[in-house]
Amino acid sequence: MTNKNGVLVLFSGPSGVGKDTVLDIVLNKDNSLQRSISLTTRDIRENEVDGRDYYFISKDKFNNMIENGEVLEFAQYGKNLYGTPKGPVDKWLSEGKTVILKIEVQGAQQIKKIYPDAVGIFVLPPSMDELENRLRSRGTENEEDIQKRLEIARNEVAKSVDYDYTVVNDDLDIASNDVLKIINAL
Ligand code: ADP
Ligand code: 5GP
Repeated sequence: MTNKNGVLVLFSGPSGVGKDTVLDIVLNKDNSLQRSISLTTRDIRENEVDGRDYYFISKDKFNNMIENGEVLEFAQYGKNLYGTPKGPVDKWLSEGKTVILKIEVQGAQQIKKIYPDAVGIFVLPPSMDELENRLRSRGTENEEDIQKRLEIARNEVAKSVDYDYTVVNDDLDIASNDVLKIINAL
């Protein structure tokens, strides 16, 4: 990574596969890892906290940040925009930290162009039926959103071959340990 010592990890996978659940375990086990907090224009869920799970911002503010060069990458997912704030990631990388970005596939492709050494990990569900079960049991989206997320998921899973590593999140402990082992080996 040019002029940078840290490692960028792109953590992707379809909505509902368990990315946040796995990441919480991984970050608890290794507190040297730095998780980037994304920007989003979507509505906040009941269990979420602004500034912890995401920075929940308006479309205008999002567009201003893009214009000011404050966004490293961004993508539209469903009806909303999601993006990575640039400043903190640059700072952490210059400090030699391992930075984890929760990111969908279009954003990951953009990052790979800027940071070819970024390492991609794609989390797969044990099956599409199980993915649907998890999305439903999480209970955070309405039926229309669930269908949209499942449609996007099918395209995303097809792109998992472009990633450096894939991890199946069937048993949560195994999946979290697999992710930790991959990151520790970088
Ligand atoms: P994502 O961040 O990928 O959208 P979440 O972490 O919110 O997904 O997980 C979606 C749902 O699936 C949550 O209700 C979570 O508790 C559940 N879940 C996550 N991992 C597993 C697993 N290995 N087995 C069963 N349920 C899981
Ligand atoms: P959710 O609404 O379920 O929290 O996230 C929807 C999708 O947006 C997920 O695939 C998630 O990985 C992705 N996402 C979250 N943060 C970012 C980001 O900063 N950039 C991009 N490109 N995608 C993100």
